[in-house]
Amino acid sequence: MVRIESWGAAGEVTGSKHILDTGRNRILVDCGMFQGRREEARRKNESFGFDPRSISACLSTHGHLDHCGLYPRLVLEGFDGSIVATPATRDVAGLVMLDAAKVQAQDAEYLRKRQRKDPQPWRTVYEPLYDARDARRALERYVTVSYQRPFAIAPGVEVTLHDAGHILGSATARFTIKREGGRELAVGFTGDLGRKNTPILRDPEPLPPVDWLVCESTYGDRLHEAACDAEERLGQIVRETAERGGRLIIPAFAVGRTQEMIYLLHCLHRDGKIPQVPVFVDSPMAVSATAIFRAHPECFDVETVEEFLDHGESPFAFDRLRYVTQVEDSKRINDLHGPCIIISSSGMAEAGRVLHHLSRGIGEPRNTVLFVGFQGAATLGRKLVDGADEVRIFGEPHRVRARVLSLDCFSAHADYGEIGDWVSQLDRGRLKGVFLVHGEPDAQARLAEHLLKAGVPRVEALVRGVPVVLD
Ligand SMILES: [Zn+2]
Repeated sequence: MVRIESWGAAGEVTGSKHILDTGRNRILVDCGMFQGRREEARRKNESFGFDPRSISACLSTHGHLDHCGLYPRLVLEGFDGSIVATPATRDVAGLVMLDAAKVQAQDAEYLRKRQRKDPQPWRTVYEPLYDARDARRALERYVTVSYQRPFAIAPGVEVTLHDAGHILGSATARFTIKREGGRELAVGFTGDLGRKNTPILRDPEPLPPVDWLVCESTYGDRLHEAACDAEERLGQIVRETAERGGRLIIPAFAVGRTQEMIYLLHCLHRDGKIPQVPVFVDSPMAVSATAIFRAHPECFDVETVEEFLDHGESPFAFDRLRYVTQVEDSKRINDLHGPCIIISSSGMAEAGRVLHHLSRGIGEPRNTVLFVGFQGAATLGRKLVDGADEVRIFGEPHRVRARVLSLDCFSAHADYGEIGDWVSQLDRGRLKGVFLVHGEPDAQARLAEHLLKAGVPRVEALVRGVPVVLD
């Protein structure tokens, strides 16, 4: 009996953990960290709900924290099998897991300090879920497989990875399970599904026919702007901000979105569509992530290859672009006069150096703060995008006088129309049903409606810890 169990990102958009149980083997697809408020995150991250020693192998779809952030904990709790992923995902996941170890250590230190200063009996000082050594041990469990090469992940189970077009190295996975009587069951997992025409990355690749599909639903109730030309819009915002003599501050995820912004600014700069303003990538993690991008040209789309690589150029270097790693150099940006562009993490403005740039720049009407990614509930990014007049940064109140903009065209997730189109490429004669994960209930209801209308025979949302049987 083949079953699927979900232990994270069931009815929510973070902490992906799904088990494909073939009766003989249990394969964990993604082992993501739940991201959210500290107490809830701790509760959801410290216990898996299943025994890590029961897992035979893992499949890592991509290197986002909410998909790979708990592998170190899994290994710490006894998992000793392989984690299968593309080579680029292994590198991205390594960076992300090590960063997560650092962030947790800093958070624990902050909690300890606060408790020393102002002891509260109700307050818990959470120790990190894992440290850098654990992250490195998890990384040692990775086994890399190229796209489209079938790989025996467990006895009687093969997996083939296909480009998901979501972030560098991201993959959809198709498992084939040999059953008695020579029959074969094929189960697909979307991981996170990207979009067509994203800079650098290839379009999401269609998946060969499957019997069942586990599908993400982040934007199950949304349609992205139809004709959103990211390069055009970004160019316009750069020109407007420069004309006003202001700074353009772009909070961006270090992995993926930052490199897309660099790529687009490079194109605009090369074509003379923006003034010659300095561009700073101010985030040590973004600098490391860009090095990983450079190391994996096998993941680039044909445009990137033809426009840059074929001429011996890097998409990630041009003469006004500076990568900043040292804190002193980061502080020096503040002393500059005149317009500039600062790309800094974190993408939701919850932590990182971007907070320093925002605290200094948010009160200046000439400046623009441009959000280019999903903003989670209760984050500083969400408050700003929602039009807050005043926000707190490092505990201090700040009036919002800078122009705050948000560009939807940079979403790395397919909307319901795009998911529907992608699903419709599957062989409909074979597809028995779609299980939705990685989405809020409203988004899932809307996507289910859309897929059912498009002819998928059965669509339902997975519920945490409630297995479904695949026949
Ligand atoms: Zn993702």
